[in-house]
Amino acid sequence: MSRLKVPIFYYHSIGNQGPETLPSREFRLHLELIRDRGFTPVTFSELLTLPLDAEGDYVVLSFDDGLLDNYENAAPMLDEFGYKATFFVIPGFDDVVRWVNPKTGQWSDSEKSGFTLPFPSMNRQHRRQLHDAGMEIGCHTMNHPKLNDIPRERLANEIRQPKSLLEDQLGSDVRTFCYPKGRYNKAVLEEVATAGYLGACTTMPAYYDWKTQKLECGRFLVEDHRLFGKILEWAAPDHPWTQPLCTALRVPLKLKNTLF
Ligand SMILES: [Zn+2]
Repeated sequence: MSRLKVPIFYYHSIGNQGPETLPSREFRLHLELIRDRGFTPVTFSELLTLPLDAEGDYVVLSFDDGLLDNYENAAPMLDEFGYKATFFVIPGFDDVVRWVNPKTGQWSDSEKSGFTLPFPSMNRQHRRQLHDAGMEIGCHTMNHPKLNDIPRERLANEIRQPKSLLEDQLGSDVRTFCYPKGRYNKAVLEEVATAGYLGACTTMPAYYDWKTQKLECGRFLVEDHRLFGKILEWAAPDHPWTQPLCTALRVPLKLKNTLF
């Protein structure tokens, strides 16, 4: 029987400033809910290798964009709870500060008018320390482009090249990938498969189960801890609210993807 049904959550900034960060105290509430409900956090690549009839309740926590506050604020809390997570990083951004516009909540990869909140990136030393502490480092491209928008000949630069670079730096396989802004098409999927990734994450809300295509795993962007708790609760197999929940969460996401 295939009973495995796992929520994968994703975050960006933790404990920083402005509208686009999740306060550390809220993140702690998520970790407490995971502990109190008896879920086991696994990395994304561990999830992909679990048997479909695995016993137990699992959850995956993932972080996009390789922001320095992931290392400074999220990792110590994860460590305190003894939890593992997956960090999807952007090695081309090692020396790049990203900026948020506090009025609109939009992100920019360069400094420009109205974008006043700085978000520095992790570098190879930070990634190495996370990896050595048992966290998974996954790849989120070299430069964070919308992959469905770039010429096919550039795909290898964004999908294969950062994999090799990170593997050299970490001395270990990099097995998972994440599409910037959830954008991909058939050519992107082919390149991700050829590069040898075991699985990849999108931004579409969905649980991971026996039907999931491993290169198109859905995730939940949920920062309200009450909804976070519900998504854990509804991970019970065949819970009647699963599909309505995922459908409802897609509406604001589609709107956001259209605007930005
Ligand atoms: Zn991203």
